[in-house]
Amino acid sequence: MIYEDIICPVCGMACDDIRVELKEGKVITHNACLMGDAKFQELTSDHRIIAPTIDGDVVDWKDAIKRSADILKDARRPLIYMGSETSIEAMKVGIDIADYLGGIVDNNASMCHGPTVLGIQQRGVPSCTIGQMKNRADTVVFWGTNPLESHPCHESKRSIFPMGFFRKRGRNDRKIIVADPRFTNTAKQADLYVKIKPGYDIPLFSAMRAMLRGHELNEFTEEVTGVDVETIKKLMDMLLDSEFIGAFIGLGLASSRGKDKNVYILLELIAELNAYTKCAVIANRGHCNVAGFNQVCTWRTGFPYAVDFSRGYGRYNPGEFSTTDVLARKDVDAMLLCCADLGAHLPRKSVEHMVDMPLTTIDVAPCPSTMLSDVVLPGVIDSMENEGTFYRLDNIPLRARKFVDPPFDFTTSNEDTLKQIFEEIKK
Ligand code: SF4
Repeated sequence: MIYEDIICPVCGMACDDIRVELKEGKVITHNACLMGDAKFQELTSDHRIIAPTIDGDVVDWKDAIKRSADILKDARRPLIYMGSETSIEAMKVGIDIADYLGGIVDNNASMCHGPTVLGIQQRGVPSCTIGQMKNRADTVVFWGTNPLESHPCHESKRSIFPMGFFRKRGRNDRKIIVADPRFTNTAKQADLYVKIKPGYDIPLFSAMRAMLRGHELNEFTEEVTGVDVETIKKLMDMLLDSEFIGAFIGLGLASSRGKDKNVYILLELIAELNAYTKCAVIANRGHCNVAGFNQVCTWRTGFPYAVDFSRGYGRYNPGEFSTTDVLARKDVDAMLLCCADLGAHLPRKSVEHMVDMPLTTIDVAPCPSTMLSDVVLPGVIDSMENEGTFYRLDNIPLRARKFVDPPFDFTTSNEDTLKQIFEEIKK
């Protein structure tokens, strides 16, 4: 059986052109990169979690739901962590549970592009769809991001190589600028590579703004920015010669010294550039639906991530209510973890608290987090085993179609599982 135009739920590209062939128990994908293909192979993998467990023993589904609900309702301040490889419909139920119980709700955004979101909140962002980037951009900038490895189909389907409506010759109609401390595989394709001194993005943006306003850069510029004046001049010439600049920014900005201020100052520069040409910016969000969580959480609570309901209303303070911090400070006493492997990624101090407190995990495959969990509930692969909405990295919602059934019948989706837990809590 062949299924067309399936959405890949792995990285922020949310490729919607995947062709999946199910043949003699095997899954064959077309148009998917290795990362995406690995996710589709989960459909038939022999390590798939297909039965609920409590303390490692297989139990009845209803018992596992009840125990999960008991863990959350007995807690004084539970943490609901909604990972990004699930639909926004499931995320909304997770947010509702945190609100009902006076807990905290958070998502991968707090440890990746959260500072980008903060910078955008402070300055506002001129943005567009990734399709417009493909059709219009004659200069593509990658700043602190290496999409060839983080979003393998980015360049081939959207940013560098494809034909666009106004860029009929694909790569030949585009100039590529890469700014990164490392000479990455993306940088190897650049017309101009700018080697940034780590943590010195703000001085460099400031030098670019000074040049834009007609100031001469002096002999101290290289010492302060880490980039020589000739390269900055060349960079500005390329930008100002463009009809449309498509800028993609990555964790090199959000996770280095300066964090949200890096993004804020970049957006100031882009606002000034827009007096001379057109420039739009998109964050290269890493996870498939991490942008979706920011959307649904903002719609539901007024804030994009790291929201605390312990006073009966939503409060937002990244650094205080974000997952890494509340775990490290032992500010929460139970946790529901959905579709993310925090056990493999958080700092040791935070993971130690996950070991100490009751933990329910919803996931499709065994991982460090499931090993730490009191209750493990089998996850449904959203976008393959049930329909749902996913936001691409440019904040465009895509509706995913189901094409196979989950390998069990006690739940139809992660949203359904969370609703069952919520009903049990309310009882
Ligand atoms: S680039 Fe991302 S969304 Fe596209 S197939 Fe690869 S992992 Fe999936």
